[in-house]
Amino acid sequence: MTFTVAIVGRPNVGKSTLFNRLAGRRLAIVHDMPGVTRDRREAAASLLGMEFRVIDTAGFEDAHDESIEARMRYQTDTAVAEADVVLMLIDARAGVTPLDAHFADYLRKQKTPVILVANKCEGKAGAPGMYESYGLGLGEPVPFSAEHGEGLAELFDALRPHA
Ligand code: GDP
Ligand code: MG
Repeated sequence: MTFTVAIVGRPNVGKSTLFNRLAGRRLAIVHDMPGVTRDRREAAASLLGMEFRVIDTAGFEDAHDESIEARMRYQTDTAVAEADVVLMLIDARAGVTPLDAHFADYLRKQKTPVILVANKCEGKAGAPGMYESYGLGLGEPVPFSAEHGEGLAELFDALRPHA
């Protein structure tokens, strides 16, 4: 049995970029366009030889009949419930936003362990946001760049105890 990793966080922090990187060639072609990725995606993934199942939570941008909070909760709830560990991403270049804080408040109340990932940290651009993110109460952030593939070893170390 492998373990399951859910990627959560507000829109535009880099969740799908991380998902694609972890899924790599195992992932069939997916059209990652706004409004197309409304459904959750999952794939077999590997990180430096460690294998697991990864779940990308996508847009709550498509449901027009519910509040943002309700849509966010639904996507996040179902993924978190299935996961052995959650990666909560922030955009470290943008710093911590109220919506990030909202996700963190929610996740702190769940049983599933959470790893905070400070994405978009390449070239030290994310340093201020990374320090700010300690205030989310989710422990030490993993500095990461999904786009540039930086921080893979740190992410491996953070995930390893949950495998
Ligand atoms: P999602 O909405 O959380 O799934 O975010 P996406 O994966 O769609 O990424 C949102 C935007 O952030 C895209 O333009 C990505 O290219 C960009 N992005 C993702 N990861 C990084 C990163 O590590 N560094 C930078 N600079 N941009 C990134
Ligand atoms: Mg996405």
